Amino acid sequence: MSRPWIDVVYGTRPEAVKCAPLVAELRRRASARTTVTVTGQHRQMADEVNASFGITPDVDLDVFRSGASLAETSSAIFGALAHRWAEAAPDAVVVQGDTASAALAAVAAYYAGSRVIHLEAGLRSGDLRSPFPEEGNRRLIAPVASLHLAPTDSAAANLRAEGVAPDDIVVTGNTGIDALHWQRTHPQRFDDPAMEEVVHGWDRLVLVTVHRRESWGGPLARVVAAVAETVTARSDVVAVLPMHPNPRVRREVVAAVGETDRVILCEPLPYAQFGRLLARAHCVVTDSGGVQEEAPALGVPALVVRDTTERGEGVEAGAARLIGTRREVVAAELAALLDDPAAHARMSRARELYGDGRAAPRAADAIERLLGLARAHSLAG
Ligand code: UDP
Repeated sequence: MSRPWIDVVYGTRPEAVKCAPLVAELRRRASARTTVTVTGQHRQMADEVNASFGITPDVDLDVFRSGASLAETSSAIFGALAHRWAEAAPDAVVVQGDTASAALAAVAAYYAGSRVIHLEAGLRSGDLRSPFPEEGNRRLIAPVASLHLAPTDSAAANLRAEGVAPDDIVVTGNTGIDALHWQRTHPQRFDDPAMEEVVHGWDRLVLVTVHRRESWGGPLARVVAAVAETVTARSDVVAVLPMHPNPRVRREVVAAVGETDRVILCEPLPYAQFGRLLARAHCVVTDSGGVQEEAPALGVPALVVRDTTERGEGVEAGAARLIGTRREVVAAELAALLDDPAAHARMSRARELYGDGRAAPRAADAIERLLGLARAHSLAG
């Protein structure tokens, strides 16, 4: 009997990071034939992560077009996947998280007759407009998925509350933490010598990542201006802000930083280099989902510059603070972390809130069960 075919589909940097440990685990077990299809939604950023993890995609749909709207990109992804699976559909398609690539791949796989497996299932902010379009994307995936791999108990509870059968939900931890563990054992030198200088030359580093669509046109600029003003007022502090490639994000960030040279703008850092900087940071100011998970695992306080979060565990544990995007609030919260050692210490304890680094073996076990495969190679026990 031939082995079943699992196609893992993704298109952006965070999906590439979180799929990599599962692809490695499924390929190690070899109980199924596992292929990787990249959509090309984030061109260089996902390519870089694939290269870091030694993954060569089997198929590259290459849908990225500069300036394309969300709907145009989504339509291109859907059409290309329909074409890919027209002759033969995979037994199962794995999608991760909440991007357009994930949502459209889930629907295309469902139409093709494949079973849909959702990695990082069940995250909900409760607000369809925030984060946009991620909240809508992940809700679209749930009804067509046969297996929901939830990273945390609260994600599993969200799915049960929406009527997903408990037997179809498995709590695995987040594979992003598996990737982080891998990264910590594969330290990388910075390509950019300026980053080595930052790491060695400054007492305190504030790392900043801001890119969410709902922050464009005001909120993002306010956050960046608050960071610039706060670090400039302290002689031993520098901020680093790797800029998302989106041209609109770049324009807003550059304008908000203004003349100060204490906010260092750089290109997106390769995944392992970003992690090295994060581990060294005094704190992180972020609207990123993945960074909200990585920071507590490294004991780095996170100020979350959003109005809602689907990652409440960090806030509840005191490792993160959900502070919105008002300029004076961001400045005050950052100042507290810089000026009050006790406040900083309270948020700095490393915690396993999102996973223990063994999510991929648990996910692979659940996938093998779904496909009726033996668990001979299981590591998860
Ligand atoms: N990241 C990276 N380089 C950077 C900034 C972030 O490799 O310059 C990584 C980060 O470690 C995390 C992921 O990108 O794993 C988060 O991606 P992003 O913020 O784009 O998406 P989100 O997690 O919000 O969906």
